[in-house]
Amino acid sequence: MAVSQNGAARSLPEKAISEFDAVLSGDLIRPENADYDQVRSVWNGMIDRRPALIARCKLVADVIEAVGFAKRHSLVVSVRGGGHGVSGNAVCDGGLMIDLSQMTTIRVDAQDATARADAGALLGDLDRATQTFGLAVPAGTVSETGIAGLTLGGGLGWLMRKYGLTCDNLIGVDMVTADGEFIRTDDETHPDLMWGLRGGGGNFGVVTSFRYQAHPVGPTVLAGFVLHPIGQANEFLRFYQEYAAQAPDELTTIAVIRIMPPVPTVPSELHGVQVVGTGVCYVGDLDEGHRVLQPLRNFGKPILDSIRTTQFVDHQAALDAGVPAGLHYYEKSENLPALSPELIETLVEHGERVTSPYAFVGLFQLGGAVSRVAERDTSYTNRDAAYSLIISSGWKDPSETDDQTKWVRAFWNAAKPFSTGGAYINFMSHDDGQDRVVESYGQHTYRRLADLKSIYDPTNLFRLNQNIKPSPRTATTPHT
Ligand code: FAD
Repeated sequence: MAVSQNGAARSLPEKAISEFDAVLSGDLIRPENADYDQVRSVWNGMIDRRPALIARCKLVADVIEAVGFAKRHSLVVSVRGGGHGVSGNAVCDGGLMIDLSQMTTIRVDAQDATARADAGALLGDLDRATQTFGLAVPAGTVSETGIAGLTLGGGLGWLMRKYGLTCDNLIGVDMVTADGEFIRTDDETHPDLMWGLRGGGGNFGVVTSFRYQAHPVGPTVLAGFVLHPIGQANEFLRFYQEYAAQAPDELTTIAVIRIMPPVPTVPSELHGVQVVGTGVCYVGDLDEGHRVLQPLRNFGKPILDSIRTTQFVDHQAALDAGVPAGLHYYEKSENLPALSPELIETLVEHGERVTSPYAFVGLFQLGGAVSRVAERDTSYTNRDAAYSLIISSGWKDPSETDDQTKWVRAFWNAAKPFSTGGAYINFMSHDDGQDRVVESYGQHTYRRLADLKSIYDPTNLFRLNQNIKPSPRTATTPHT
């Protein structure tokens, strides 16, 4: 039984399903197929949704057919890139899941330092392809994350203070609109749409490939982690906020409070140890980098200092093992203007209550190139925030769900009074409702997004996302 866009149960004609299957180059997966459970599963093991059909697209033509089929049969649609969205919006119940994970081709043009990546590619794929030419596209911090959802929501990572967010380096896309039309777009052809795609998530169509500006990076960077015992958390974070405020653009840091997970990339003597500290990545002159990082390394008596010259691709994968696919995950986020002493106390108080080795509190340091993009130029907002706070828990045993989600929520409630009011849409869980989406973008940007939605997706076909409701007025003049 399928579910239509208005939530009503409906049956799909077998003939229509067979005809759809026949025109697809990729597979059409149904609940009776042996690989159905594997194909519908995503990174967050808490998500257990059952699409009526899964179109595993191989070609743009498959995506066009899939959008057309969903419209003809008025089906709920979800779009899967890398399957790492914690909210699980990549999977629908009863509708059509458009799965792009087999579309992973990447082409790099070393001459003009650009890369075109199909929408199922993962960050690690993009790094490997670009590093072959001494280039990198700023992206995230875990190599198994999909480029699609990450780019469309913003893209915070180790290169952002030097080269901007992933969406700031997006120069064009190929996409299939809600009308089933294929368009190739950039700032010249559809400036309004490009504005929306740089932060507005999957609201405007199914992107089939992304074109990025790349930058000379590595292959060697100065990177690693400095960790202290949790008892030093207050002193460390007070030192850290002053240190980070002086950091050059070449340095991006991500501070953390957590219990170290029992994974091979963590020295065994640290397994289960509760720590405070920061990860760093310095891209630039290595001698200057050593000088810049020295005060951080000199502070206190770290229980780990792994900062060294290392391959950029290795640093990009350094956090992978700590966030294994299939655990249950829940997270909340806020943007922060600064780390005041009161906020630090709050972070430490709630951070100390963490119980899972797969939970963490992260402070992504913004500023630098992120803050130099004008607020009106992208739909990613809150450019003046100093940090993006993520409070995330992961656990194996479903009986822990209540306790773990309570820890995240209590922490989040305590941190909220310190927020700028904005949040990062890519760190939102399944229960962050519509008000939270509006709050995250801010009223002005949300209204502009809603106008754009009314042009590109007036019936809200693409609604399984951090949803922008089409504005009721029929906007005919695209914003510039
Ligand atoms: P999916 O679950 O496949 O997609 C998420 C949503 O994006 C979909 O529901 C859909 O609405 C939309 N979407 C996906 N593909 C398309 C498409 N082709 N066209 C249109 N819409 C599409 N974020 C950061 O910024 N920095 C980080 O360092 C970072 N680290 C992370 C680490 C982990 C372990 C995880 C789980 C997430 C991390 N994130 C990070 C958050 C990440 O940006 C989001 O989870 C993002 O949605 C992942 O994209 P995906 O394609 O893998 O996800």
